[in-house]
Amino acid sequence: MTQDLAAWAKANAIRYFLIGYTDLFGGQRAKMVPAQAIADMQADGAGFAGFASWLDLTPAHPDLFAFPDADAATPLPWKPGVAWVPADVHMDDAPLSQVPRQALKAQVAAAAELGLRVKTGVEPEFFLVSADGSEISDGRDDAEKPCYDQQALMRRFDVISEICDGMLDLGWGPYQNDHEDANGQFEMNWAYDDALATADKHSFFKFMAKSVAEKHGLRATFMPKPFKGLTGNGCHVHVSLWNPAGTANAFADDADPMGLSAQGRWFLGGIMRHATALAAIANPVVNSYKRINAPVTASGATWAPNTVTWTGNNRTHMVRVPGPGRFELRLADGAANPYLLQAAVIAAGLDGLRTEADPGEPLHIDMYRDGHTVEGAPRLPLNLLDALRAFEADTVLTEALGSEISAAFVKLKRAEWASYAASFSPWERDTTLDI
Ligand code: ADP
Ligand code: MG
Ligand code: MG
Ligand code: MG
Ligand code: MG
Repeated sequence: MTQDLAAWAKANAIRYFLIGYTDLFGGQRAKMVPAQAIADMQADGAGFAGFASWLDLTPAHPDLFAFPDADAATPLPWKPGVAWVPADVHMDDAPLSQVPRQALKAQVAAAAELGLRVKTGVEPEFFLVSADGSEISDGRDDAEKPCYDQQALMRRFDVISEICDGMLDLGWGPYQNDHEDANGQFEMNWAYDDALATADKHSFFKFMAKSVAEKHGLRATFMPKPFKGLTGNGCHVHVSLWNPAGTANAFADDADPMGLSAQGRWFLGGIMRHATALAAIANPVVNSYKRINAPVTASGATWAPNTVTWTGNNRTHMVRVPGPGRFELRLADGAANPYLLQAAVIAAGLDGLRTEADPGEPLHIDMYRDGHTVEGAPRLPLNLLDALRAFEADTVLTEALGSEISAAFVKLKRAEWASYAASFSPWERDTTLDI
C-alpha cells in the first residue's frame, strides 16, 4: 500500500519534502516541495529537465516527472521537518530505463521471477577531511596503524554519534562504528535489507554523512583514494538470496564446508565471470583505479583486491565468504552509484544462477604476498578506460542490466575519460619537461 504523503507529513510534522532521483554519476537531484503541495506532486510527479543532470538526454527531450516512492519517505534526522523521498522517474508517461533506481527495480523483479529475494548490506567507508578537502580534519590522527584507534574515534564522537543516532531513530539497526585503516577514515554499519531498501539507505547515508559533517565544519568524502599511500574508501557489498517470505536463505547450506549452497556458488560464478566488466560500475571514476591494484599502504595493506579471486574468511581477495549463507564483494568503492552497483551485482549473479556458472575453487592464500604464485587469475582493470571497454564487450551483462542504461553509462563515462585524458597533470611536466 502506498501511503498518502500529505497525511504522513501531518502525522510526522514534515514541512518540506525533497523529491528526487539519482543520476548515472550518482548525483542526487531533488526538488524541495512544501508539504502543502505534496498531494499534487504525489499524483502528477515533480518536473525536471533531465539533460541538466547526468543522463543521456538532450535539451530537446520532454521533461522528466519524478513520482515519489512514498513508502521510502525518510525524515532527515539532522533537519527536523524535512523528509527525503526517492522517486520513480517517467518520461512520456513511461518509466525511464536509464535511471539507476529503475534499473535496480528491474533486477529485483528479475530475481522475483525466479522466486528469489535479494538481501544486501553495504559498508560505505569515508574520510572526515577539512572543509576545503585538502587534508584530514584531525591533525593528531597520524598513527601508522590507525585502524580501530579509540582516541581518534572519540575525537570525532560528535559527528559519528550524530549520524549513528540518526540511523537509530530511523530504525535501520546500526550496530557498530569504527575508525578504519586510514588516518581520518571511518566506517558505520547497519543491518542488511532488501536490495532496493539498502540502495536507498546507502544514498541517504551518504547524504546524511556529508550533511552532518558540514554542520560540524568538516567534509565527509567517499572518494575512492583521497590520499596517496593511505587505504582507500571501499564500499563492500554483502549478498544473500532468500525465498519470497524472507524466511529461508537460499545461499545457506550447512553441509557445504564454506556454508554456501549450490545457488550461492552459481550466483558467485556470475560475479566472477563478469567481474572485469562489473568494475566499470563498481569502480566508476578515474580515481577508483588508485585504490584497486594499489601498492602497499602505510598501514601495511590496501584492503582492496587486485585479482578476480575468491576465498573464505580472508580479506586479500575480491570475494570473501565471511560466514555461511552470504558472500562479500570487496571490489566496489565509495564512488559507486548505490543503485547501479546493486543492479549490476544482481544482473551478474542472476546470469550465473541461470547458467549454473562455476566460480572455480576458492584460493586460501594471502593474495597480497603470494598472488604472483597463482597462474591464470584475471587481473582487475588497471584504469577506467579498460574497465569501460570490458563492460562494453560484456554484452551479456550490458543486456541483462538494460541496453539503454548501459549505453548511456558508457557514453557519459567515455566522455569523462576523454576529459581526464585532455587534462594536463603536474606529473607530465615533472617527467617530460627536460626530455
Ligand atoms: P566486515 O567489515 O567484516 O566486512 P561489517 O560488519 O562491517 O563486516 O559489514 C557487514 C555487512 O554485511 C553489513 O551491512 C551487514 O548488515 C551485512 N550482512 C550480514 N549478513 C548478511 C546477509 N546474510 N546478507 C546480506 N548482507 C549481510
Ligand atoms: Mg524553472
Ligand atoms: Mg566493515
Ligand atoms: Mg572497512
Ligand atoms: Mg567488509
